[in-house]
Amino acid sequence: MDILKNTQAMGKRIYEDLEKINFIRTSTSAEETRAANIIREELAKAGLQAEIEEFMVETADIEKVSLNALGKDWEVQGYRRSGSTPEEGLTAKFAYVQQGTEVDLYDKKGMIVMVNSGKLNEEVYERMVRYGVAGFLTWNGNVSDVLEQTDLPERELRSWATRYGVIPGGVLRAIDAMELVKGEPETVTFTLVQENVERPSRNVVLKMKGTDDTTENVTFGAHYDSVPFSHGVYDNGAGSVILMELARHYKENPPKRNLTFCWYGSEEVGLLGSKAYVAAHKEELKDVQLMINVDVAGSVLGADWAAITADESLCRFVEYLSKEVGFSTDVTQEVYSSDSVPFANEGVPAINFCRFGRNGGAMIHCRHDVIDYLDYRNLGKTAAFVQEFSDHMVNSVVFPVPRKMPENMVEAVDKYLRKKRVDEK
Ligand SMILES: [Zn+2]
Repeated sequence: MDILKNTQAMGKRIYEDLEKINFIRTSTSAEETRAANIIREELAKAGLQAEIEEFMVETADIEKVSLNALGKDWEVQGYRRSGSTPEEGLTAKFAYVQQGTEVDLYDKKGMIVMVNSGKLNEEVYERMVRYGVAGFLTWNGNVSDVLEQTDLPERELRSWATRYGVIPGGVLRAIDAMELVKGEPETVTFTLVQENVERPSRNVVLKMKGTDDTTENVTFGAHYDSVPFSHGVYDNGAGSVILMELARHYKENPPKRNLTFCWYGSEEVGLLGSKAYVAAHKEELKDVQLMINVDVAGSVLGADWAAITADESLCRFVEYLSKEVGFSTDVTQEVYSSDSVPFANEGVPAINFCRFGRNGGAMIHCRHDVIDYLDYRNLGKTAAFVQEFSDHMVNSVVFPVPRKMPENMVEAVDKYLRKKRVDEK
């Protein structure tokens, strides 16, 4: 059976839904709420009654951020939750500390340092705290970026970092970082004033009763928020609308097992929607046989991939199924950075479906995540395969996936969630 022959109509419906949430939807913003309401309203049109579940997000309002060095101001954004400098700024010696090794950092007490990284690494952050660094800078993008075509978003210091302590941090463009380091300033003045706040974000949750008398449940997930400056259609408006299509499919074709569909908010700031969901529904998790997540889909240039955080036998099944129905996909056993992780952390087997734009075919987490690089054909194909796979699962006589997380995946999840502090290892 070739499931891909009749996916056009499905792909077109999914694409139309995607157009409805084709706007920036950052964590806790009014637009994120608007998107949650659109998802809910579209489901209601199909006779599906979803609920909104609110949860609180720790964030910060940055009131002032600036960087002055070599007699001029540099474009800079702050790290939220990284604390504040004095109002008038912090003037301190500057050093470029490369990858932040012990050798780089042992004598940088009280200094403002720049790390050779767009992303903060836990070992380096812990070392900066330990050696008493007073402020840190990272850089974003590429030295060849064109100013008019790129953005410099704020960043967030996550809890895995703040548990060591807070150091006021900022982020520059790569080109500015290079110029600053080349200029070898003796001192720089960095100002960051912010207020920590808590704001609500939302999950959209739809429950569907199965036809069998069972407590067994299959839970579907996709995050619908985006990062700043990004329309987030590829990551992950696409997964969100594929999930809506699946919900309509099961409304028309009632499943044997109970289903839950979750559209998560605030995934992009640390999987907060799914973490909140798992915390609020802990009692129900024992009944969840499998979590099926869709994150990133629809790119014209791309390749499909199933990342499986579960028993190896599920990898074999997906491989066989892909051959049976004529759908090309990579299959690996691993932890995929998405809302499946909090479930896997509770021992719930998980599978992530995605379609990755290889080698620049489609981009995430920037203004270039736009609908022009996606099409209905590829949305339809991935959706058809997820549906085919899900039909096998939700209607199986005995649930085929072992309800046990293999040892290697337990370790990988612990590592991903940074359960161990680096100074305790
Ligand atoms: Zn995503």
